[in-house]
Amino acid sequence: MDCALFLDFDGTLVDIAPTPDAVKVEEGLIENLETLRRRLGGALAIISGRPIAQIDGFLAPSLLDAAGLHGVERRRDGDLEGGRPEDHPALRAQVERLQRESAPLAQVLIEDKGASVAVHWRLASPSDAERAETLVKQAAEALGGDYRLQLGKAVGEIVPAKATKAVAIRAFMAEAPYAGRRAVFLGDDKTDEIAFVSVAEDGGVAIRVGDGDTAAARRLPDPAAVRALIASWAAGEPIDPDALPPA
Ligand SMILES: [Mg+2]
Repeated sequence: MDCALFLDFDGTLVDIAPTPDAVKVEEGLIENLETLRRRLGGALAIISGRPIAQIDGFLAPSLLDAAGLHGVERRRDGDLEGGRPEDHPALRAQVERLQRESAPLAQVLIEDKGASVAVHWRLASPSDAERAETLVKQAAEALGGDYRLQLGKAVGEIVPAKATKAVAIRAFMAEAPYAGRRAVFLGDDKTDEIAFVSVAEDGGVAIRVGDGDTAAARRLPDPAAVRALIASWAAGEPIDPDALPPA
């Protein structure tokens, strides 16, 4: 059976950099992805936690099929869904409320990502930081089960609850040119594991990049090995993910 290829970006196609902006796309990678995409009849997509617009920036001039923000937004054959602000009316109301109620707080930043919103308080005073955390918790509560709150270091982000990389890959696999192929997914971290499980359940192959416990059946040591594999497949070598080393 022919394959459909799904690729995480950071830590899979590109080496992790000190800051997200600093990642470097290696010479030849974009051309190899385009060649491989044609070989796969168009069944190749990037599956990332970043917004699709950032992926486009790194892979310009290519506009590959992609899922961004861990599956919140998805683009196939140029059609974008899920990531537009107007797809999220209830969230819009809470973004406005957060902007209004955080206005008196110094150094509290509301980052409106369209389909999600992050409240940052790293530089705020302890009392303003506490207030910011309370505000984002209240907003998440008001939104109910369709959204969830991810608390990080001095940041709280409200994201759509049902979006995952697993859901995004299954959505691609339900449509041409992906349908009827065997999914192959390469990723490198925890957020990829849920999709490793679903891909295997559906008869596909999951490939973990780098160390660590994994649900994937296969493993590659680092992004350089991924790029070498893509180059060889683009050059016409047989596409046989089952021949890769076991995880
Ligand atoms: Mg990654």
